[in-house]
Amino acid sequence: MPRKSAMESPNLISPEKIAAESASAQPAGALDACDHRALAKRMGLFHQQPDAPGMVFWHPAGWQLYRALEAFVRQVMERDGYAEVRSPQLMRRGVWEASGHWAHFRENMFCFGEADAADECALKPVSCPGHLGVFKAMAPSYRDLPLRLSEFGLVHRDEAGGALQGLLRLRQFTQDDGHILCAPEQAEAEVERFLSGVLPFYRACGFEQLAVALSTRPDDRAGSDSEWDEGEALLARVLDRLGWEYVVQAGAGAFYGPKLEFGMRDRQGREWQCGTIQFDLFMPSRFNVSYVASDGSRQRPVMLHRALCGSLERFLGILLEHHSGRLPLWLAPRQIRVLPISEAQREAAESLLEDLRAVGIRADMDASSESLGRRIAQAHEAGVAELAVLGAREVSSGSVALRGADGQRMLSRCEFLEEIGARVALPVL
Ligand SMILES: [Zn+2]
Repeated sequence: MPRKSAMESPNLISPEKIAAESASAQPAGALDACDHRALAKRMGLFHQQPDAPGMVFWHPAGWQLYRALEAFVRQVMERDGYAEVRSPQLMRRGVWEASGHWAHFRENMFCFGEADAADECALKPVSCPGHLGVFKAMAPSYRDLPLRLSEFGLVHRDEAGGALQGLLRLRQFTQDDGHILCAPEQAEAEVERFLSGVLPFYRACGFEQLAVALSTRPDDRAGSDSEWDEGEALLARVLDRLGWEYVVQAGAGAFYGPKLEFGMRDRQGREWQCGTIQFDLFMPSRFNVSYVASDGSRQRPVMLHRALCGSLERFLGILLEHHSGRLPLWLAPRQIRVLPISEAQREAAESLLEDLRAVGIRADMDASSESLGRRIAQAHEAGVAELAVLGAREVSSGSVALRGADGQRMLSRCEFLEEIGARVALPVL
């Protein structure tokens, strides 16, 4: 039900407004306090080194943040009927020749072995061929379709050194990748099904506005004109049925098919293209993938590539800047910090910390000898979402002073654990 109402009021941004406002938005050049790299340093999330350009060294708090986003995406994928898989990192060039990447994307790939030898191989820049390999080996029939496969696909792309920018542009990143393989007559319903989950997902991440673009056939393309007509019309039909306003980006489709792209508007007025669903007219035939139809014949499935975040790392960079480091409680790497006012409350604080961790809450404690005011300021600096303060009064009455964005409240220990437990849960869409 909530999904339906979200679709009725999509709060879409008009394409003209985006073009005008993006032009006047501040450039991301200077490393100001809102830059995700500055926030990450303050919060102790990750670092990068000149001897590993375009790579991320996640620190403990940063990795907790990464895993929280991954858990949310996984929950959404499972609810949407995806089966998670894992495909190889390194595959021979024959795979990339079949996928078209050897011809269209080779200069962005990390290749190994003697050039042009049969066993020359490359780190995967995408997971699509791996998923087609899984589909083929599963030898599905029409009864198994649509088959939705997902992977947190770790990919490598050799981006130019000058283009690298914190989490926003990396050489190694993780896609929340998914492929839907279905009978041609199921494709339209699958696109609509995917679109119905797009707005609730971005809203749960704190983005209220979305821009939609339909990218159509480029000059250099695979497939026949009639196939392109059909693919483009299908995507447009779904958008029209949902009443979504969109802009057409003529010629901006992938070489293998037309696509829809979703742009989120952040608090600084910038638009970020993250989600996509792409209609593929090319890869299933290049990999000779088929399913057994109800009459026993072999039929070619339609392939849809889809993602909500695109790159998990980039999405985290955007989230950090959008929220200025004050992430929603379900996502915050440090959800709660226990602060005993003096040494006399340390034991009670340790016991509270144990209870919080036992139910999976990302909690820590600061029992240093600094003043309470100083420790509160430090917690704020580190992006700790909520504070549990324990003084003599709280310990003697079995209560906790909960200090969050909306002020300070006294709760019994039991109420406190119950409330925090409910509020840290992943959003249910
Ligand atoms: Zn793909």
